[in-house]
Amino acid sequence: MKASAGREEKEVFAAYIAKNRLKRSDQREAILDTFLRSERHLSVDDLLQLVQKRRSDIGRTTVYRTLKLLQAAGLAQELVLQGQTRFEREYKRQHHDHFICKACGEIFEFSSAEIERLQDEIAAELKFEIDGHRHQIFGRCRRCARAVARH
Ligand SMILES: [Zn+2]
Ligand SMILES: [Zn+2]
Repeated sequence: MKASAGREEKEVFAAYIAKNRLKRSDQREAILDTFLRSERHLSVDDLLQLVQKRRSDIGRTTVYRTLKLLQAAGLAQELVLQGQTRFEREYKRQHHDHFICKACGEIFEFSSAEIERLQDEIAAELKFEIDGHRHQIFGRCRRCARAVARH
């Protein structure tokens, strides 16, 4: 990833910090930078591990609090996948849902215009106003399904 990657997100965060009269912190900036360089769905501990490779002085509480700030600033989305809280990039990303392998924890993203359209139709029938949804589909990924078949 290029050095300029995530520049817009960093600007959004700086504006959020200023607006909320929070102090700038180089720890938070290191956490944000690490978060932006990862394309994955990270638990607090995943991110902590990555951050500590660069800054061993940063603790879990700071990572957690920073993720909550990123969420409030619209830069991160929190997902509860199999009872574990994970965070992924949110800013200007297209809506998507997730397949989750229960054997290895691998997460696959998908989006389907057809599924989105169908749920809008069903909501219209129910006169239900949707303001968000999450599809999580559980099972086994190709690799893990193959491992089971071999037994
Ligand atoms: Zn798997
Ligand atoms: Zn995702």
